[in-house]
Amino acid sequence: MASTTNLDQTAPHIALFPTAGVGHLMPFLRLAAMLATRNCRITLITAQPTVSAAESDELACFFANHENIKGLQFQLLPYNPSTDIDPFFAQFISISNSVHHLHPLLSNISPPLSAIIADFTIASSVCKVATDLSIPTYILITTSARFLSLMACHSQLVKNNPKNSGDEGIDCIKLPAGLAPMPLSSIPPPFFNPNHYFSTILSSNSTSFSKVNGILVNTFDWFESETIEVLNSGRVVHDLAPILPVGPLESFKVGQATNLPWLDNQPAKSVLFISFGSRTALSKDQLRELGTGLEKAGRRFLWILKGSEVDKQDKEEIEDILGKLFLERTKNKGLVIKGWVNQDQILAHPAIGGFLSHCGWNSVMEAARLGVPILAWPQHGDQRVNAQVVENAGLGLWARDWFWEKMLVKGEEIAEKIRKIMQGENLVKASEVEEKARQAYGIGGSSEKVIQGTIEALKKKK
Ligand code: UDP
Ligand code: UDP
Ligand code: UDP
Repeated sequence: MASTTNLDQTAPHIALFPTAGVGHLMPFLRLAAMLATRNCRITLITAQPTVSAAESDELACFFANHENIKGLQFQLLPYNPSTDIDPFFAQFISISNSVHHLHPLLSNISPPLSAIIADFTIASSVCKVATDLSIPTYILITTSARFLSLMACHSQLVKNNPKNSGDEGIDCIKLPAGLAPMPLSSIPPPFFNPNHYFSTILSSNSTSFSKVNGILVNTFDWFESETIEVLNSGRVVHDLAPILPVGPLESFKVGQATNLPWLDNQPAKSVLFISFGSRTALSKDQLRELGTGLEKAGRRFLWILKGSEVDKQDKEEIEDILGKLFLERTKNKGLVIKGWVNQDQILAHPAIGGFLSHCGWNSVMEAARLGVPILAWPQHGDQRVNAQVVENAGLGLWARDWFWEKMLVKGEEIAEKIRKIMQGENLVKASEVEEKARQAYGIGGSSEKVIQGTIEALKKKK
């Protein structure tokens, strides 16, 4: 690990500012660690209090293992929304509302900042403060380039909302400048609802796409080449800042490894890993159908079970959800865990041969970097768009008729798809993706070049 004493005179000082949810935090921590080992001085701004325990635990562990990275705690002003709002969205808004208090903290920071890299969900407000202080601003996008293209067109699409066209038959919408058309069913419904927080957060922050110095994306050229090329052609949005693919972001060594002797005793590539990310909870009925599916598929499995969206509210025991008999019957085939695991470390384990995933973008990039085939079961937000990217890249299969909430996917159907994903041909294709990912972040690779180029540009601005 590089320490601050190894930094030379030219080292740029970069502040990173993530928002809420582990899915937004993780790529920032990874980028912070990567920049710190590439002769950069790093300050990580953390909004307090965090929404979930998972985030505060992750942060504590990160700082304990990266003494060279400075933390800057940013206390949020109280925010009491009158309507029922997703707690993570409330945090995005709360940070934006408090950001003017960051002004004195940033102007007094020493040595002065060379750049600030902010999450998209607070980009506009951060950009305003940074511009005032003449600090170059970058956005780090925590989703796919494909979903980014949708976000970049948000205002245009809302203006010409195809749902208002009166044509019930529309199932795909056109995107500008030769971007591939997008199935309507892949676009989260709140996208078109100007009164929904999802949409207001998008519209208030997408204006910053043309104001910042660059848009870093946790993806790599080979994985999303077409989309990246069109976005960078200048034809999608006027003055769109350069798209800078820097993924798959490397994982960093953490203090707490997940100790799973059960996994160590399973044959190579035999276990299906099941996890739906940090904030996606399935209904109790759906969890039980998934259990039936796993049992019927007859494959080995490691299942991270999550019963509620925010971990602080998650109190139910595994046995209460799945039943004692299920656990009894499957005890030789599988392991069900409730709580936080080090997912990246599990995906890297030689026994893992498949990943049933909601296609949160971090999960997708981890699977790409580690060559694990995905069976995509997306739920909401950017996940259906990401699932299509996964399928196009050959990283796995998308169960596209397993829809949003309000439907129950039966165990028999789940079993059939599990058997399919655990077939060897998917592993071969996924290892090809792994090789391409390795090339991107290897010496002279596309993503490594972009990172080095960005650092060089910041050194010149010093
Ligand atoms: N994660 C983890 N352990 C868990 C659950 C999630 O380490 O038990 C990590 C996972 O590896 C990923 C992030 O948390 O880096 C979740 O981000 P993702 O984009 O996959 O999904 P989200 O949680 O945003 O829906
Ligand atoms: N979302 C939600 N409730 C809604 C609308 C959206 O929880 O009513 C979330 C959903 O989880 C989706 C996210 O909004 O993933 C999209 O924004 P974000 O950039 O936070 O995605 P994430 O990285 O969390 O997947
Ligand atoms: N939902 C979500 N993420 C999304 C979209 C929807 O979690 O990206 C959830 C949302 O929390 C809501 C339900 O799905 O409880 C219904 O979604 P809808 O899109 O109809 O949102 P609404 O317009 O009801 O807020």
